[in-house]
Amino acid sequence: MKSPARINEHHPECPSCGYGLTGQIASWTQQCPLNGVCPECGHAYQWREVFAIVNEWGSRVDWYSEHGGDWIELFQRAPGTLWRLMRPGRFFKAINHRRMIRLRMLFWWMLVVTAGLHLCISPVGAAGNAQAGNWSSTGHGWDAQWTQSTMDTVANTASAVLFPYAMVYHHDDGFELRLPFYDEDWAAYSMAAVIGIGDMIAWATLMTGVLLVQHDDSRDWRRQWGLLGRVALLSLVPMLVYVEFVRLGFGIHAATGMTEATDWVPYGFLGVYLLMLYWQQAIWTHAVRSIWNIKRSFLINIGGCFGSIIFGILFLFWVL
Ligand SMILES: [Zn+2]
Repeated sequence: MKSPARINEHHPECPSCGYGLTGQIASWTQQCPLNGVCPECGHAYQWREVFAIVNEWGSRVDWYSEHGGDWIELFQRAPGTLWRLMRPGRFFKAINHRRMIRLRMLFWWMLVVTAGLHLCISPVGAAGNAQAGNWSSTGHGWDAQWTQSTMDTVANTASAVLFPYAMVYHHDDGFELRLPFYDEDWAAYSMAAVIGIGDMIAWATLMTGVLLVQHDDSRDWRRQWGLLGRVALLSLVPMLVYVEFVRLGFGIHAATGMTEATDWVPYGFLGVYLLMLYWQQAIWTHAVRSIWNIKRSFLINIGGCFGSIIFGILFLFWVL
């Protein structure tokens, strides 16, 4: 609920430079003009856009999962939110520091995205299991009685969904769950995501430092921590996508029975990983520029990119 009093806490400011325009309004004597010029930067604006910005405080964006009113809206908006996050510049222009913050909904969105990708990729794993012969630990095969082959299919499907965290075997005397299933190859490729977690920690620490160093008594700290939490959560999404891509790679590898000679999968992992690392850095650099409106963001962004990757690699070794 937003009351007029709440909106009035925020003053109109220049759409270009953020200069406070309250003084301009005070100078109106006869009527409200349609257009104005910023005394600070000379930007010509329409008062309509200035008040549209004031009204953004605490507002929702209609395609964004974090702002969904209920679970249905959260689900409906989940793919669109992921799609828009791929262009972080435009994303943060809409999901700016004035919008409503609901980190719990954002967290649920991330779980929904992970589960969605996970389920989309699972059929490839099921095909891989079939190729590898894992689907029939009883040795009956497809020619067996339908009960046997149905139970094999159940075990195969469950294994594909649970890969690489567990495997379901079908024996003559029933099902068996084995934890954890992952092997050395899986560990080697998926552990790269730990670097991404380190990147996030390094960026969040850097921005906490920047916010603490900047003296601003009027700062709404609750909102600042909320924004930091939002960007930190969003910056983990590329790594979630990467881990699911590794699952996809393992599934394709198993399903097509590739040999070492045609083994392009590790190169695919590397390519996608670098892309995801770039996406993660882009999320932070755009956030620094548009959410925290830091003018000379160049040094912070260069330092953040290099520093976070170095810290991420150190973090991986610490975890190992
Ligand atoms: Zn201005």
